[in-house]
Amino acid sequence: MRTFKHRFPGLKSTGAMLLVVTCAIALFTIAADFVIYTIQSLISETNWVQHTQQVLGSLQRASLLVERVEYRTQLYLLTGDDQLNRARMSANSLRSLTAQIGTLVADNPAQTSNDQNLAVQVEQLNQALGSFNAQSHAPEKEVEACQKTISLMSNIEQTLLTQRTLKSQYKSFATIATEIAFVGLLLVTLTVLFGFLLHNAVPRGKTGKQLILANENLAQTVKALENCAQEAALLTAAIDEVQLCTDVRQVYDAAANGFWRLLPGTSGCLSMIGNSRQIVEVVSSWGITAMQDFSPPECCCGLRAGQPRWREPGKSEIHCEHFADDAPERYLCRPIIAHGNTLGVLYVQCESDVLMQLVKQRIESVHHLVQITGMAIATLSLRTKLEHQSIRDSLTGLFNRHFLEITLERELSHAARSKQILAVFMLDVDHFKQFNDTYGHSAGDAALREIANVFHANIRRQDMAYRYGGEEFAILLTDVTVKAARERAEQILQAVAILPSTGQTQKCSNLTISIGIAFYPNDGETAEQLLRRADEALYRSKRQGRNRYSISQVEAMAGQFEPIL
Ligand code: GH3
Ligand code: MG
Ligand code: MG
Repeated sequence: MRTFKHRFPGLKSTGAMLLVVTCAIALFTIAADFVIYTIQSLISETNWVQHTQQVLGSLQRASLLVERVEYRTQLYLLTGDDQLNRARMSANSLRSLTAQIGTLVADNPAQTSNDQNLAVQVEQLNQALGSFNAQSHAPEKEVEACQKTISLMSNIEQTLLTQRTLKSQYKSFATIATEIAFVGLLLVTLTVLFGFLLHNAVPRGKTGKQLILANENLAQTVKALENCAQEAALLTAAIDEVQLCTDVRQVYDAAANGFWRLLPGTSGCLSMIGNSRQIVEVVSSWGITAMQDFSPPECCCGLRAGQPRWREPGKSEIHCEHFADDAPERYLCRPIIAHGNTLGVLYVQCESDVLMQLVKQRIESVHHLVQITGMAIATLSLRTKLEHQSIRDSLTGLFNRHFLEITLERELSHAARSKQILAVFMLDVDHFKQFNDTYGHSAGDAALREIANVFHANIRRQDMAYRYGGEEFAILLTDVTVKAARERAEQILQAVAILPSTGQTQKCSNLTISIGIAFYPNDGETAEQLLRRADEALYRSKRQGRNRYSISQVEAMAGQFEPIL
């Protein structure tokens, strides 16, 4: 498990750097104090040296004044001019100077007592000069005493000067050494701090780059996630649309719409293999595509291979043959397969590499939507087939007897509500057993299909024809008159009679049918009653020689052809 400091290595070095900086500041403070102290000591020592030199200078001047007093008194004795006054002035100056020297050496007790002696001696010298005349002896004793004391004091000051000069030199050396040490310490500290900064700056630089990289990766991931979310939303919407469809035509359109939204910028189409399995027909499309209807299915490389196939520049030279002009450079043919049956092909055309990359990125969604589309088409086709089978007769394609019962009920209530006449035809092929015996059962089936076609061709859109069973049929004519029903019966009889020349089989010669007609409401108000009446009328036609129609007995007995409503 990684520790906090492992995760954040910068924190460790920052802590160390703070410690170093704190220590460096403390050291600098101490070192600076020490440097100031040594400098102050040096200044103090220098002052003492200057002080001693000043004392020495004063003592020298005092010695000179004493000498001056001496030789001026001697000159006076020899020449007798005003040398005495000059000697007295010098002695007086000496007195002032002695007082100054006293002030200067006040800090030194040994010199203070010497200075007091000197002051006494100077005073004696001045007194001697005060009473001095041409007969007096030269004041040699006072002069000598003064010179002795000055010499003693000079010697002491000289010794002090030597000591203080040495001390000053030492202080000077100590100050220089301290300053050098201070500068050295400064350099070492700066080097250490610089090292730390450098040490931190390198990983920070690396971390910065890693952060930028991580940010870029994060941005890319977010974009990819947004893309995925958008793709998922589009796919879900398209699947919902396809699954809501109730017939295959809607599925084709919904799927094309879904692919258009999922693959924006592309064009394409859905092409389905026809019942003959020879023609592949474009059933829905988006954008403008180069694809057209084609035959046989093998013209498409995707259908030939039984799996998705891309054509891309520089990768594949072989292309499909379902284009009017040259094949596009980038396209995808993806077979639509459901329950192992190839139903058709999805064609996607890309005008640029960017669009091709988009399709490749979303190819899983494309496959998914193709599968859902295929399943929807297969399911709806099967449902249509099953519905067809449940209400239609497989041989003739007409509605079956079960559906007649349902629709007759419905049409009767409709006719009752709208006060309309409804005609029920019962039809039976004449001598069909004989026909079968003569031409065979297959020919009989073909003949039944031909007759069914005749019914389709001779009734209106709203009328419906049924296979009632065997070679028996029924027709419902809604909103009809008796006259129109009779005309329709005539028309059907004639169309069947001429079947050998119009139908697909030549064996329908001599085929005729008989018809019985009952009307709502005169012949009955229920389905059962009407079917019975129509059947009775049919058998009357049979009895009367076949190839004819008969109106229901009730209707006939009413003696009028328009029913009473
Ligand atoms: P009628 O004129 O009195 O109606 O004589 P008919 O021979 O048509 O009547 P019958 O009821 O004796 O015979 C009906 C025949 O219809 C018998 C049967 O073989 C034939 N048939 C019924 N259903 C089919 C079918 O689906 N295909 C073929 N080929 N024949 C069928
Ligand atoms: Mg019959
Ligand atoms: Mg028959």
